[in-house]
Amino acid sequence: MNVNTEKDFPKTIFFNCSSCSNNYELTLKEFIVKELPRIIDIDHNRLLEAYNNSNLKFYHSKYFNALQFRKSLGKIEAGTMVCFDNEIHVIRGFPKIRRTLMLSKALEKHFNGEVAVEEKMNGYNVRIASINGKIIAFTRGGYICPYTTKKAPQLMDLNQFSQENPDLVICGEMVGVENPYVSHYYPEIGKLGFRIFDIRKKHSNKPLSIKEKRNILQKYDLPSVRHLGVYSLKDAPSKIMELVKELGKDSREGVVIKDLEMQIPPLKYTASQAHDDELIYAFKYPFDLGKAFFFSRVIREGFQAYEMNESAEELGKRAQRLGESILYPLMGTINHVAEHKVAGEDLLMDADTMEEAEEFVRHLRDLGVLAKVIEFKDGKAVIRRIHQSTTDKINNYINGGLY
Ligand code: ATP
Ligand code: MG
Repeated sequence: MNVNTEKDFPKTIFFNCSSCSNNYELTLKEFIVKELPRIIDIDHNRLLEAYNNSNLKFYHSKYFNALQFRKSLGKIEAGTMVCFDNEIHVIRGFPKIRRTLMLSKALEKHFNGEVAVEEKMNGYNVRIASINGKIIAFTRGGYICPYTTKKAPQLMDLNQFSQENPDLVICGEMVGVENPYVSHYYPEIGKLGFRIFDIRKKHSNKPLSIKEKRNILQKYDLPSVRHLGVYSLKDAPSKIMELVKELGKDSREGVVIKDLEMQIPPLKYTASQAHDDELIYAFKYPFDLGKAFFFSRVIREGFQAYEMNESAEELGKRAQRLGESILYPLMGTINHVAEHKVAGEDLLMDADTMEEAEEFVRHLRDLGVLAKVIEFKDGKAVIRRIHQSTTDKINNYINGGLY
């Protein structure tokens, strides 16, 4: 999969206008200037500027071509794809979910009436849409993932749903240990599974209400994230705190809190153990991930300890876990690199052929991830993701390089 980098609009776009049913052939520039502003309601000058800055990019794939929003532009989210496949299909980016640090105050300020609490699953975000009859899986940034596109229909039967609802997009999390992006063990999932948390309209990105979503998932027998209850705003903070403590004990991530009508954006809240797990991961690869992860996880711990009104003993335990989640993985990796080894992680995935595993590695490279196939046997591939900065910097420092 390669992404076009030319700035001189060499491409021609063919499409069929759904309102007038005429066939069009436009250059990419004509499309961006004349058609796209009408389709997504953004001024053509801003779109051209985004194209020239590579924030809007031509995207070529074996499935179809598209325009990809690398960054958000006005109300259009990053990860939005304008797909050209006979007709134009706009698959909007999945919106950011803001985090609450203090449940008791934030819920009351943010929501009205009752809230639905869902489990937040730890995997990777996927949007699945039917594009001209093809079922396609997009990752958060809008990239079409060949692995997910192949796996999703094996994990659930999407045919009837997509035939009867071509204008709906399934938003869910790919989870499990044989997950080449985020590997996490769930007893009920094991190797690989998919859990749906939102159903949204193509083009507008409008989410269905919690009730409509649940009815549809039930009707088509599609797998949902766990619903943990509906609570009044008065009860919600203490209930959620209890739920999150329990989830944390089971190594589960946390919750997403949603307005029943989905008119108000959801909020997320996570368990202390999830913060520690992310720090452990980040400090295994300190010079690749440490900085970006560190500050926000520590801040989450501080406010959670405050809101839980912890005893000195409980706080001491939290502090110890936090420190251990930083120092032990860091030490582990320094020792590892000191033995002339590379800081890397091995990811396991299903692949029918070596070529399929290599296609996935090319897809990772497009995402800026350095990886290679190190083993392929019996339908399984081991992909090694290399953390180069961590390897290079640790080598430099243990040999006397200055910080
Ligand atoms: P964001 O850009 O939304 O902050 P992030 O990459 O920082 O995302 P997370 O902290 O994992 O990701 O939180 C948001 C993500 O949680 C969503 O993008 C979605 O993939 C995932 N998620 C898991 N379970 C749910 C759920 N029940 N409802 C909504 N999102 C969920
Ligand atoms: Mg996540």
